[in-house]
Amino acid sequence: MTVKTPPTLNIGGLGADPLTQRIKEKQKEWTYKIAVLSGKGGVGKSTVAVNLATALAKKGFFVGVLDADVHGPNVAKMLGVDKEQVLAEKLDDGRFEMIPPMNDFMGQTTPIKVMSMGFLVGEDQPIIWRGPLVTKAVKQLLGDVKWGSLDFMVIDFPPGTGDQILTVIQSINLDAAIIVTTPQEVALLDTGKAVNMMKQMNVPYIAVIENMSYLICPHCGNEIDIFGKGGGEKLAKKEGVDFLGKIPIDLKAREASDLGIPIVLNEESQASKAFMEIIENLIPKLEALKKEEGNE
Ligand code: ADP
Repeated sequence: MTVKTPPTLNIGGLGADPLTQRIKEKQKEWTYKIAVLSGKGGVGKSTVAVNLATALAKKGFFVGVLDADVHGPNVAKMLGVDKEQVLAEKLDDGRFEMIPPMNDFMGQTTPIKVMSMGFLVGEDQPIIWRGPLVTKAVKQLLGDVKWGSLDFMVIDFPPGTGDQILTVIQSINLDAAIIVTTPQEVALLDTGKAVNMMKQMNVPYIAVIENMSYLICPHCGNEIDIFGKGGGEKLAKKEGVDFLGKIPIDLKAREASDLGIPIVLNEESQASKAFMEIIENLIPKLEALKKEEGNE
């Protein structure tokens, strides 16, 4: 008698499929895994992810950046690499692993390794994949890439609180979630949801960064609060999570993104100073958490 087994949808959430297993192995070599998220699009999430990663690499840390934002995968462009630079290596078991392109901005940072959803599809092609496909693609970018040993793995997730995010987060043990918002009320409602999602996922360290907080008037040097004031800090307090700092609107930040040279490398810029201060806040917090974990 033949028994027909029902087809199973293997998106790697719970079972130990080989890809999830490979992710588990790889992440043993990454000291800190950080997700950068936002409640809604256009708040500067990718800009923050790229600049935090570059700030860490400027301090001498080994950093990998994974652009998992299927809606606008432009992190690679912001970091000055493209898919032509992706190489592949054949492994003993016949599988191929992708070798991530790197940029060290002419020696200003340690080489930052970058992989992106944009490498799998054209950058200018809107991605209309179904959820399980997206999840699989992101997981391949984690598990089928020669990342090697990293101090920080920074993952830029798509905005919102969708299932794709949850499934990927289940396959990696995030150390931190950084949620980017702008100061105005509408953005904050969505940010609150993102914070709560991370709480439900038991991410050990959750913090808010407020982007586009104010504009420094190029004429008088005063701060102008275009999108309101203090919202990010208020939200962090209400949710009982850390507030890591504010990034001003800097016209050069957009130009820098387009040129593939993150604004944090321009030491004259106020945004650069803000990013460096933020990582000075962040690093000791993460180190303290690891120490606590080690003592448990
Ligand atoms: P998201 O990832 O949230 O969709 P992006 O990081 O792509 O947002 O940013 C959206 C736009 O805003 C980009 O053109 C970016 O260069 C610009 N931008 C982001 N942060 C700043 C800032 N602090 N100052 C000036 N422009 C910014």
